[in-house]
Amino acid sequence: MEETVSKNFIEQIIDKDIEEGKCVKVVTRFPPEPNGYLHIGHAKSILLNYGLAQKYNGKFNLRFDDTNPTKEKTEFVQSILEDVQWLGADYGDEYFYASDYFDQMYECAIKLIKKGKAYVCDLTPEEIREYRGTLTEPGKNSPYRDRSIEENLSLFEAMKNGEFPDGSKVLRAKIDMTSGNINMRDPIIYRIARMHHHNTGDKWCIYPMYDFAHPIEDAIEGVTHSICTLEFEDHRPLYDWVVEECEFENPPKQIEFAKLYLTNVITGKRYIKKLVEDGIVDGWDDPRLVSLSALKRRGFTPSAIKTFMEQVGVSKSHSSVDYAMLEHFLRDDLKLTKPRMYAVTDPIKLVITNYPEDQVEYLPVKNNMENPEMGTREVPFSRELYIERDDFMIDPPRKYFRLYPGNEVRLMNAYFVKCHDYKTDENGNVTEVYCTYDPETKSGSGFTGRKVKGTIHWVSAAHAVKAEVRLYENIVDEEKGVYNEDGSLNLNPNSLTVLENCYVEPALKDAKPLDSFQFVRNGYFNVDSKDSIEDHLVFNRIVSLKSSYKPKKK
Ligand code: ATP
Ligand code: MG
Repeated sequence: MEETVSKNFIEQIIDKDIEEGKCVKVVTRFPPEPNGYLHIGHAKSILLNYGLAQKYNGKFNLRFDDTNPTKEKTEFVQSILEDVQWLGADYGDEYFYASDYFDQMYECAIKLIKKGKAYVCDLTPEEIREYRGTLTEPGKNSPYRDRSIEENLSLFEAMKNGEFPDGSKVLRAKIDMTSGNINMRDPIIYRIARMHHHNTGDKWCIYPMYDFAHPIEDAIEGVTHSICTLEFEDHRPLYDWVVEECEFENPPKQIEFAKLYLTNVITGKRYIKKLVEDGIVDGWDDPRLVSLSALKRRGFTPSAIKTFMEQVGVSKSHSSVDYAMLEHFLRDDLKLTKPRMYAVTDPIKLVITNYPEDQVEYLPVKNNMENPEMGTREVPFSRELYIERDDFMIDPPRKYFRLYPGNEVRLMNAYFVKCHDYKTDENGNVTEVYCTYDPETKSGSGFTGRKVKGTIHWVSAAHAVKAEVRLYENIVDEEKGVYNEDGSLNLNPNSLTVLENCYVEPALKDAKPLDSFQFVRNGYFNVDSKDSIEDHLVFNRIVSLKSSYKPKKK
C-alpha cells in the first residue's frame, strides 16, 4: 500500500534543499535563552527541531542563547537541560553556549568593519531612535557613518578594552537607512555593557546583539535550517545579510513558523515569572502552570505532549489550540498504561452489619480491565469500609442509582450491599452508613440472581492509607478570560483544592514520587515529587477521567 503522509511546509523546504544539493546533512537547533523555565510552547519548538533532525538522519543541537547576561542564570540552564531530556530530545554528548562564540563574533565584527560594512556610532540611544525614521518615513544617516575603516577599527578595539562608558558608543552594521524594513536601517550589532557573564565572567564589556549573534551561532554550528517563530520574519533579511557579509561557506536558512498558543493558559515567561515571584504559585513547577517542569510534576507524559504536537502540526498562521486537546491525548496515553486503584477522596464510613467482625478477605482485582497484561492485585475487604460521600444520599433525586436507604448497589469487585440505616452528626451530615451484604453476590462467583444499577468503589477502613489529594483547575478564570482590562491576570480562586482526609488502598503505600495511577471514577493521579513524603502521601490529580470541557457559546 502506498504511504500518503503529507509533509509540512518545513519538510517541503528541506526536501527541496536536499534535492538541489544545497544541504547534505540536516542540522537543526533549539536555542533557548536561559532566563526562565521552558513551557509547553517551547516543547513545540524542541520536538519540531528534534523531530526533523531524526527524520532526516541529521543532527539536533541544544544551544543556550546567553548573549544577554543580565537575566541569565545557571539555575535555568539546569532546568532546561532536564526538560529537554525529559521530552526525549537527544542532543548528543554535548550542548552549546552562544557565549562560546564571542571571540568568533568579535572577529566577524572586525571583518565587517574592514569591508566598510560596520561603523562605530556615538549617537545617543534617543538620537539613534530619531534617526531611524518610522514605518512611513525613511531614516537619516548617522553623522558617524562615514568614519574611516582605521578609525572604526581602533574605536571598536577601544570599546572592547573598556575605554568608554556603558552605552556611550555602539557598533552598527552599515546597510541602508532608507530601507523599507526598519531592521535593515543600520542595526546595532555591539553595545558596551559592563555585566558579569555566567560563562565568560568579566572578559567582555561589549556584547553582540541578538540579530547579529544568532546567524553567526547557527553558521558556526553548521545549522542548515534555523527554525524560529513568526515574529522574526522581518528580521530574516538581516539574518541573511549577516551570514553573507561574514562570508560563511554554508549559510544557514531561517524558516519561521507560528508559535503554539493554548487557550486559557499562561505561557508568557514574563507572566509565569510574576506568579512565581508574587508567591501566587509554588515555584516554577507548580502543577497549575504549563512550564515543562510543572507538567512533569503534574504527571503529564512526554509521549502525550509529542502526540499532541504532531496533531497540531506546524503552520505559518497564528491560531489557538484548545488546552482540552492536550488533555485528550494525555488520557489516551494513561488509559491503558496506568493501574486502576481504589481511593476515596471524601470519605464516609460504611459498616456491613452482617459481615463477621474479624474477617478480612483479599479480593482479586484486575489492575486494568482494558489491559489484561497488567495482571491482578489483591485488595483487602472487611466489615468497615470508606466510600465517597456523594455515593450516598438520604433523599436521592430520581435516577440516582447509588446508595440510599433501602437501595442495593455493588461494591466494586466485592458484594452487593443494601442500606438499612445511617447516622448523622448534629449538623445533619452523614457520618456512617449501615448495610447488609449478600454473600451469594461475590464478584466472580457467577451470581445471576438479580441486578443492581449502581457500582461504587471503596477501601477497607482498617487497611487504607491516609493521603492528601490536590485537585487543580485552571490558574486563570476560563469564563472571564486570561487577562483583566488592566493587563493583570484574572486569577481563578479555585485553582487549587486540597483534600486532606483521603483514604487510598494499601497497595499505594509505597508509591514513589511521580508514580501515576488511575483512581477509579476520580481521574488520573500521581505522587507529588516535592511534598509527598513517607507517612504523608500527596497525590496530584493529573486530569479527570472525562473531559469537562464545554465549547464556549458564541
Ligand atoms: P517567551 O515568549 O515565553 O518569553 P521566548 O521566545 O522569549 O519565550 P526563548 O528562550 O527565546 O523564549 O525561546 C527559545 C525558542 O523557543 C525560540 O526559538 C522560540 O521561538 C521558541 N518558542 C518560544 N515560545 C514558543 C511557542 N509558544 N511556540 C513555539 N515555539 C516557541
Ligand atoms: Mg526570546
